[in-house]
Amino acid sequence: MIQKITDIFHKTDKTFSLEFFPPKTPAGIEKLYETAAELNKLGPDFISVTYGAGGSTRGTTMDICDEMQKRFDLPVMHHFTCVGHSTTELQDIMEQMKKRNIMNILALRGDPPKGVDDWKPAADGLQYCYQLNDLIRTHGDYFNIGVAGFPEGHINCPDKETDSRHMKIKVEHGGEFIMTQLFFDNTLYTEYIERLQKHDIKIRVLPGILPITSYEGLLKFCATCGATVTDEIHDIFRPIKDDEEAVKKAGIEFAVNQCKDLLRRDAPGLHFFTLNKVEPVREIWKRLLS
Ligand SMILES: Cc1cc2nc3c(=O)[nH]c(=O)nc-3n(C[C@H](O)[C@H](O)[C@H](O)COP(=O)(O)OP(=O)(O)OC[C@H]3O[C@@H](n4cnc5c(N)ncnc54)[C@H](O)[C@@H]3O)c2cc1C
Repeated sequence: MIQKITDIFHKTDKTFSLEFFPPKTPAGIEKLYETAAELNKLGPDFISVTYGAGGSTRGTTMDICDEMQKRFDLPVMHHFTCVGHSTTELQDIMEQMKKRNIMNILALRGDPPKGVDDWKPAADGLQYCYQLNDLIRTHGDYFNIGVAGFPEGHINCPDKETDSRHMKIKVEHGGEFIMTQLFFDNTLYTEYIERLQKHDIKIRVLPGILPITSYEGLLKFCATCGATVTDEIHDIFRPIKDDEEAVKKAGIEFAVNQCKDLLRRDAPGLHFFTLNKVEPVREIWKRLLS
């Protein structure tokens, strides 16, 4: 039975969830269903599917959400950004989601398309995520709304305090839970929760976990999203960066320790950025349960 993610929160203290991105080819999509079927054996509470930069995966994200909900009988959260869409188009997409029983949205502003530095809303489009929340709420409570959170502050935000104030607005405009950007120092997560609590934000903050499989890839991604690559990460991964197997093994070890520590810190779940791979998430999950 498809449920809202916050309904799952009423039944369990901690959720385990998986994020996938839409592949570009039909063969890639079929492979993704096989990967997701394998990971579904681990018993996730829900799945989420990203929305390509600039709305580039518009139809594919929805098709995958729909198909995964049918195959796995799980709630699948549709990431949804404002990039390149007028409000009429955003409404049209939500109408299609409703027809396909998709009722969980991760509401996002999105980033400018590749090669464009400044964020500019589309003509008749939206500037901020909280405005997308308002648009989603024109459908009443049909949709559950998750929003993105940044333990280190959003890259374009001048400081963490301002970032928390912006989060407060997102929550007042309908955000029901927060999914975080990746981070590698768990004190950042704890400090983030404390900052949010000062603003009376008490909704669940699900930490996003990236199992490291490539040191160079990690450096590139973190440079774009502003997440800090800690000295510990450099020390572990730089010396082994050219040994794929060693990186994978160390990535699993690091993620297991990070997850255990987050759970000790009372994190209300773990959300894994799977990068569309069965491993390393399967191995990490096995070790967390053992
Ligand atoms: C878990 C997770 C999943 C993601 N999935 C995707 C995806 O599928 N597709 C994709 O394209 N991107 C995705 N992103 C990236 C996201 O779109 C970008 O990080 C984007 O730059 C910020 O989106 P947002 O919804 O947080 O924006 P907003 O909350 O609108 O914030 C954007 C900027 O505006 C500022 N701001 C916010 N509110 C106000 C206000 N009221 N007044 C003034 N300034 C304000 C913020 O401080 C921030 O600097 C994801 C991010 C995370 C953490």
